This record gives sequence, C-alpha cells and structure tokens, in this order.
Amino acid sequence: QRAVMDRTAVVKVGAAASASVCVLVGGVALAQYIVTKKKRAGKKTKIIEMMPQFEKPTVHMRDPERVEQIICGLIKGGASKLQIITDFDMTISKFAVNGKRCPTCHNVIDNCKLVTEEGRQKLLQLKHKYYPIEIDPHLSMEEKFPFMVEWYFKSHSILVEQRLEKDKLPEVVRESDVALREGFEQFFDRLHQHNVPVFIFSAGLGDVLEEIISQAGVYHSNIKVVSNFMDFDDSGVIKGFKGELIHVYNKHDGALRSTEYFKQLRDNSNIILLGDSMGDLSMADGVPNVEHILKIGFLNDKVEERLDNYMDSYDIVLVKDETLEVPNAILQKVL
Ligand SMILES: [Mg+2]
Repeated sequence: QRAVMDRTAVVKVGAAASASVCVLVGGVALAQYIVTKKKRAGKKTKIIEMMPQFEKPTVHMRDPERVEQIICGLIKGGASKLQIITDFDMTISKFAVNGKRCPTCHNVIDNCKLVTEEGRQKLLQLKHKYYPIEIDPHLSMEEKFPFMVEWYFKSHSILVEQRLEKDKLPEVVRESDVALREGFEQFFDRLHQHNVPVFIFSAGLGDVLEEIISQAGVYHSNIKVVSNFMDFDDSGVIKGFKGELIHVYNKHDGALRSTEYFKQLRDNSNIILLGDSMGDLSMADGVPNVEHILKIGFLNDKVEERLDNYMDSYDIVLVKDETLEVPNAILQKVL
C-alpha cells in the first residue's frame, strides 16, 4: 500500500514539476519572441514606417525588409551616388484621369488633327491588334518581340505617309490630354536641384516626349532622353526615324547601346528604376557598376492577372496609383 501511495505521490510531483517546466519554457519563448519582435519593429522596418506614403493601399511589396535595406543603401550613398533610370509613357505620364485613358507619346500623334481620319483608323486597328499582345500575361517577352516590331514599323510608316511637320508638334502636344503624374514638379525639380542624372528611356516618340516635359517646365539639364526620334527633311516634314527602333521589349539592347552614358556615371552606382512594363526592368542592363538598385513598378492595367508577376520583379509595385508620392517620399529621405 505504501508503495502504491509513494508511486501516486511521485507521479503527482512529477506532473507538477513538468507543468512548471512547461510554464518556464513557455515564458522564455514568449520573452524571446517579444524581444525579437521589438528588435524587428525598431530596426528593420523603420524608414518605411516613417513614410506614411507606404501605408497607401496602392503600395505592394513582396519583401518589405529588402526594400528597407535598399533604401538604407541609397540613403548612405546620398545624391552623389544616385542616378535615375525611368520609362516615360504610363510611368512618368498618367495612365488614366477619372477613368479615362491618357495618351502615350504615340497616341498624342495618333489622335491629333494633323492625322487624317483614314490614318487614325489604320492606327487604331493596329492598336486593337497589338496592344492585347503587349500586355498578354501568357506570352513571354521573346514571343511578343516580333509583334511589337511589326506594330512599330507599320505605325511609323503611317506617320511618314501623313507627312507630319516638326513645327506643328508644340501645338499638337498642347491640345492633347497627356498628363504627368501628380508630384512630377517636385520629382524633377528635386533631382535637378541635387544634380542627380535622370535617364528617360522611352519606346515612345522622343520628339513628343521632349515637347511634353518642356511644356511642363521640367526638361532640366540633368535629363537625358533616349527614344525614337523622327527624322525631318529640310522643309521640316517627317521622312522616317533616326537610329535603331526602341520598343517595349528591346530596352535591353537599347540600354547596352547607351554604355558611353553610363560609363561617365560609373560612380553613380545607386539606381532608382521606374517602369510600368516588364520590359522596363532591363533598362539598367547597360550600367557597369551597380551597388543598390530599387525597382519601382506602376501596375496600371490587368491588375489581377499581373500583380504576382510584378511583385516578383519589382521591389515596390504601385497599383493604379497616378502619383509620384512614393518615389518622392524616398527621394526626400535620400537627398
Ligand atoms: Mg511605359
């Protein structure tokens, strides 16, 4: 009987002891968890947390801690190490205003009064055929490539047929619905003020692009535009296009052709890249010396189908965000 009692007592004591060990282990784990969490909150996401712009529902990030690290690197490097590489259409310019689509550089010409009704119809047909291919999430860039070339050659030869005049471009731009994203003055003025090189790399029409940023008052001396420029004859009538074609999916080649520019900026090893297409990700391919690169992508259209892809490729994805608030907030920290 004594033996039985003893056994029961031993079992009871044992149970109490293991329970208290559990409490002890649990307590240590909890304390550790709190310390880790405090460390994380206090250290790793601090800069992003200090920017209320990042709380907007338009902001998507796969890896906020990575974004934090890159921004830390950019801040450390400051103005002297920074350069901007950006797309133009639907990145610097708006995609839509009150639900109405805004024109790209090409659309500014397509829709202008200098183009005949017949020409406009032909250009529109091309757009209906090729734009769905451009944004099709099920086709690779390589598969899209030949269609994009076809689209450009066909539409550019229509523009040549229309005998566009150089002198008319300012008026055409003024009368268009093209608009730059909210905060564009602050963006370009700050970069100019701090002498940060800005490379605008556009598959659009360079002549129209330059006219747009001139009229907006932001074509500062720190900006270099690489795009498709029209070639005019002596009387100022378009006769073709200069140099090799840049389209949405060959920016890689274009970037590599700009190596001279990037060589001069060898010390500007920190990059903020802005784009709205997967093709824009290769814009920095010509940069020889990259220390930190922050890729910001605007996702304007077909959001559900493309968000996952964009979040894999861009560090920050801005969904249907017609502003430059997030880039501006980052620049305010860096410069
Ligand atoms: Mg674009």
